[in-house]
Amino acid sequence: MRSLSATPSEAYPMEDMTSPDDSPRLIDGFGRAVTYLRVSVTDRCDLRCVYCMAEHMTFLPKAQVLTLEELDRLASTFVDLGVRKLRLTGGEPLVRKGIMELVENLSRHLKSGALDELTLTTNGTQLAQHADRLAALGVKRINVSLDTLKPDLFRRLTRGGDVAKVIGGIDAALAAGIQVKINAVALKRDNAAELPGLIQWAHARGCDMTLIETMPLGEIDEDRTDQFLSLRDVRRELSSYWTLTDLAYATGGPARYAKVEETGGRLGFITPLSHNFCEACNRVRLTCTGTLHTCLGRDDASDLRAVLRGGATDGELVAAIHAAIGSKPKGHDFQVDAPRPAVARHMSTTGG
Ligand code: SAM
Ligand code: SF4
Repeated sequence: MRSLSATPSEAYPMEDMTSPDDSPRLIDGFGRAVTYLRVSVTDRCDLRCVYCMAEHMTFLPKAQVLTLEELDRLASTFVDLGVRKLRLTGGEPLVRKGIMELVENLSRHLKSGALDELTLTTNGTQLAQHADRLAALGVKRINVSLDTLKPDLFRRLTRGGDVAKVIGGIDAALAAGIQVKINAVALKRDNAAELPGLIQWAHARGCDMTLIETMPLGEIDEDRTDQFLSLRDVRRELSSYWTLTDLAYATGGPARYAKVEETGGRLGFITPLSHNFCEACNRVRLTCTGTLHTCLGRDDASDLRAVLRGGATDGELVAAIHAAIGSKPKGHDFQVDAPRPAVARHMSTTGG
């Protein structure tokens, strides 16, 4: 892992770190401003999705995982440095003990106007219990992962999950006034034929829908090449009976959006294996152990937990973050048909 001794001025010149209004900014070595932080708050989960985890996962010892206070300090430092959007993920964020306390504490940045958005990505199983509180704390949109509406298939894909709980969670979030985006991983053998129905179901509820190509992250029990479904093919198929109109809407991430004229809903395609989004990439990821990954598709890593637990002052922490951001790579390294995963860590460690 990268050592973080570089001072901000060694990482890049001081004038590059400052916006016109003199607020500090995180600019990487390729001139991209980092304004979006995803924070994995736990590596644990109540499901074991086949493309994400091995059936018998070994989870991290608690001492290695950042405390709620450490998560708050790190996330808040990024906000001070110009991050405008914070997404909590995991593992499953809603199984982390004390998660609502963390959301409540972080919501102070929404109130102060420092943050535009506080959001999370969840599997939805615990959402029904938390939806009202999340809405009250200022969470306006969330992503819920749902690959199928079929109870048997859902149970098999998640190794034991109950799809009714997820649907109940989605309905509770919508009733609380939270916008929900449904994310589905496109799986050639398992849900390819169901995708149009899933899209219609989401759009009928007023939810946007995003399809994700499987990514080669971490060793799992299955062969991923076997399940890989190109979203180019999915789009071609959908276009044979629907009118898809490209939207300019861009998030700085790997999603491209279209409007489905027949349903009136928005449909995103996340194709992380293509390089077409790296240029505008505005995001970095923090694992639950405090490792900062500046690119989802590379093994680059900076250990911010060591900095925190080494007793760093606020200034030293800021310097360490600037040094890490300064070495964000230009682009990723994915190849789905490679014999080994391009990146050894699991998605549940990095956060989706
Ligand atoms: N547990 C939460 C959930 O499932 O939404 C948040 C974490 S999960 C790792 C985030 C997203 O990553 C989910 O939408 C999941 O489907 C997706 N994901 C996990 N492993 C993946 C893989 N190998 N390729 C593509 N997407 C993956
Ligand atoms: Fe858990 Fe999300 Fe991974 Fe599924 S995708 S095992 S719900 S972390």
